[in-house]
Amino acid sequence: MEISNVQFTKEMRKTHTILAPSMAPIQFSLLVQVLAQEGYRVKLLTNEGPQVVQKGLKYVHNDTCYPALLVIGQMIDALDSGMYDNSKVALAITQTGGGCRASNYIHLLKKALIRAGYENIPVLSLNFKGLNKNSGFSITYPMLKKGLAALLYGDTLMLLKNQSKVYEVTPSSSDDLVDSWVRKLNEQFSANKGSSFREIRKNTRQIVKDFAAIEKDRSRPVVKVGIVGEIYMKYAALGNNHLEDFLFSQSCEVMIPGILGFMLYAIQNQIEDVRLYGGSLLRKAVMKALLRYLSRLEKMIIEEIGNNSDFTPPRFFHESVSTAKEAVSISCKMGEGWLLTGEMRDLYALGYTNIICVQPFGCLPNHIVGKGMIKKLKELDESINIVPIDYDPGATKVNQENRIKLMLAVANERRLEEKQ
Ligand code: SF4
Repeated sequence: MEISNVQFTKEMRKTHTILAPSMAPIQFSLLVQVLAQEGYRVKLLTNEGPQVVQKGLKYVHNDTCYPALLVIGQMIDALDSGMYDNSKVALAITQTGGGCRASNYIHLLKKALIRAGYENIPVLSLNFKGLNKNSGFSITYPMLKKGLAALLYGDTLMLLKNQSKVYEVTPSSSDDLVDSWVRKLNEQFSANKGSSFREIRKNTRQIVKDFAAIEKDRSRPVVKVGIVGEIYMKYAALGNNHLEDFLFSQSCEVMIPGILGFMLYAIQNQIEDVRLYGGSLLRKAVMKALLRYLSRLEKMIIEEIGNNSDFTPPRFFHESVSTAKEAVSISCKMGEGWLLTGEMRDLYALGYTNIICVQPFGCLPNHIVGKGMIKKLKELDESINIVPIDYDPGATKVNQENRIKLMLAVANERRLEEKQ
């Protein structure tokens, strides 16, 4: 089948709305504003329901990994909904450029669009490798700088919200604080502020202080749960059936590793590629410099959280590398690769000994470094309590939640035993 190649042109910036999947809601809501300031009108898709999966199944081959099926199904469902003027929309999808199938989602989407009768809709690829260029979309330096800041703020807000919500005395005070900070940060970005090292430090300090000031009841019996897995499934409520909300309803404090860790992992992999296969030493040097720069930002955020509150900051990336190496080679870098294994060890070390590993259908790489590593991780950390949960078009939410409830029952038993 032909693959359509309709370009997103410069003129379309003024006329078209770009529809994009909402993966990590807090981080992406900040990114949307960064793009808006560069002249792009972006709308994050939030449509859900069985028809999203059905449309994914109808227009994407059913061997395809579940995140692709969901993202493409959601886009076609949005186009079918009548909510948009389809002559004035474009679609955006990420393209990793690595060896995994995420590099090819864009082609699956373009094929699906032809089959669904939407072959004239332009598709934008969001990537850092110069793939599938569109004349109307380019990543500029200001966009990169603000985008990076947006991701860092988003990670921090997600982390602090997840450590506050289950203890809050006034319902939704954590969510309200997130919304208020998203508004404040968007205002700063509009005024070309908030993205320098100094400003990120200042804002992070205030964010931490604001979350620390939320009134909390720490006497509540709470189970600490970490979430790891394939990147889309880990963050997106559409993918994991609102896992975070379910855990809050079960009195859990939640930790989900941030997007910064994934960025550092992607950079580290490029350095590893040169070590394994040779290649440009200049590229290696640039990647090392980037790794140092992002590690400086990471250190600053961890210090701000650690010095200004009793919240648990994430671990340093270099610690994740070291602990992952005890279980798996860091040359294992398809999908989430060694990072997924490392994140499980990190969570355990931070006190989140109960871990849900979200496993999408069709994702062989993450089954190997997720479910496939449980035995090894138990040898290393005996009391680690990991439950792999499968997500696929036929899996029911009730089944998934029952398995999680079993894990929580074990966790509660252990908590009571430790108390005695
Ligand atoms: S990591 Fe898994 S879900 Fe993601 S593209 Fe690869 S196979 Fe698909």
